[in-house]
Amino acid sequence: MKTDCDVVVVGLGPAGTLTSLLLSDSSIKVIGIDKEKEIYSLPRAVTIDDEGLRTLQRLNLENIYLENGTAIEGAYFLDDKLQKLSGMDVPANFLTSNGWMPNLMFHQPFTDALLREELLKSSCFIKLETELIEIVPIENYYIVKTLNLTNGKEDSFTAKYVVGADGASSKVRNLMEFDQEDLDYDKNWLVVDVKLKVENTLPTFAAQICDPKRICTYIPAHLPFRRWEFILLEGESKEEMLKETKIQKLISPWLRPNEYEIIRAAVYRFHSLLTTRFKKGNCFVIGDAAHQNPPFMGQGMMSGYRDALNLSWKLISVIINSLPKELLESYEEERKPHSRFVVDGSAAIGKLMSAYAEAIAKGNPSDVPQELVDRGYGSFSLPPLEKGLFYKGYSDSDSMAGSLFPQPLTMEGTMCKERLDSLLGKGFCVVSTEEVELMPYQKKFYKIINANFLVIEKSMLNENPWLNNVMSKNDIYILRPDRHIFGSTSDKITFEDLTEDLRERLSL
Ligand SMILES: Cc1cc2nc3c(=O)[nH]c(=O)nc-3n(C[C@H](O)[C@H](O)[C@H](O)COP(=O)(O)OP(=O)(O)OC[C@H]3O[C@@H](n4cnc5c(N)ncnc54)[C@H](O)[C@@H]3O)c2cc1C
Repeated sequence: MKTDCDVVVVGLGPAGTLTSLLLSDSSIKVIGIDKEKEIYSLPRAVTIDDEGLRTLQRLNLENIYLENGTAIEGAYFLDDKLQKLSGMDVPANFLTSNGWMPNLMFHQPFTDALLREELLKSSCFIKLETELIEIVPIENYYIVKTLNLTNGKEDSFTAKYVVGADGASSKVRNLMEFDQEDLDYDKNWLVVDVKLKVENTLPTFAAQICDPKRICTYIPAHLPFRRWEFILLEGESKEEMLKETKIQKLISPWLRPNEYEIIRAAVYRFHSLLTTRFKKGNCFVIGDAAHQNPPFMGQGMMSGYRDALNLSWKLISVIINSLPKELLESYEEERKPHSRFVVDGSAAIGKLMSAYAEAIAKGNPSDVPQELVDRGYGSFSLPPLEKGLFYKGYSDSDSMAGSLFPQPLTMEGTMCKERLDSLLGKGFCVVSTEEVELMPYQKKFYKIINANFLVIEKSMLNENPWLNNVMSKNDIYILRPDRHIFGSTSDKITFEDLTEDLRERLSL
């Protein structure tokens, strides 16, 4: 059956837009729909991490964030007198193994508008003011029914795959009858974004202020913007919190009313939810449709970006490179546990703030559960993907399967001269320090999966400690298109073992 498109992306927020761009970059026929005409005009996400920037770099779009962003200088838990309890410094010019700063503060209306421009320039067919109303599965394709919100007319088209990127109240998730698991954080917070009218004198680090009277968050958003988040106390109403005089009082320790303009104040329910399934048939959910978390970790949109890349390369492999459809099963297997870590970890930061505040009220700020401190800033790092398309099916610390391979860089002192992910290509890649000799059947297999072979030069290893560290552990790495390590050779694992396992997992 010839369908109107390969993939319909429902919802063109950050997750749906990135997915559409990644797919169309590989010549996949995409229809993208959104019920709104314009992008959401107010900031929600304020940070992008190194992995997010690396993903944007694939499309040469990292400047969208870099030109509208400011690197963060640290993130701390502070007491009611603004003294540090715990946290992390971020040294200037620090680059992670992904080749970017750990976190960049940005102004979402600017970045979303630029992403929308890119989307409209791409080969995707975009239908705005078009609401999804139904998805009808027919053997190996879907009829997607929509409502044109400008004239009230119903329309339909066919697609082989459906990607639900339609946010927290996802229609796709509801139509697929996916339940949501509650991961135990559910509180109302007031979020206030201001535009400074005066030169900034406020801190350039993020702070979770654990004041027993009211916990709150301060975010040094991209200038001239600043954000505060205040928990609602027992008995406080939404209406009361949104009064200008109340907001001015809450912000008064930092700024006088004539020093800022409130650009947005809203009471949000910060809650932790994870959908029970990420996939049914050829229909997937990504982004906030799949997981929602309190914003304390700054990872909500990032989780959506990880979903977008994980699902896109698999769809590209199946649709363009004709790899077997079973590959798509690993989307849920890989993304669900990782999303759970982020949802859980975000809630843990909220719980740590409350625990510090209680301990301060009792006069002993260090009397907080160690298990929560261990999940605060500077104490956790995002885990590798646990299981999925990896050697023997699991992540492994020796072979580094499940972890991201470092970005090759050239450096000038501590400054990065060139980011060279493009050397890895956009498909599978075999990385080594010496040429890998292939047997004829291996040659054939790597040709089918369109793999790239990269021999890393010594000079690059000398300049890049991350890469040097990885390449000194094991000799040959097989990378997946999303730069996650499939597996590597060791005393016990030969290149032949790796190739055979990958071949079996791809059913080739
Ligand atoms: C206060 C706050 C602070 C945050 N801070 C951060 C942060 O610092 N870092 C971070 O990474 N994340 C942060 N987040 C989370 C982040 O904003 C979200 O995770 C992200 O915006 C979700 O993107 P999305 O594309 O999945 O969904 P959305 O942006 O919600 O997009 C969904 C789209 O689907 C469309 N849609 C919905 N239903 C339909 C339908 N039936 N038919 C057609 N279209 C439909 C909508 O119009 C919308 O455009 C924060 C969130 C909040 C609320």
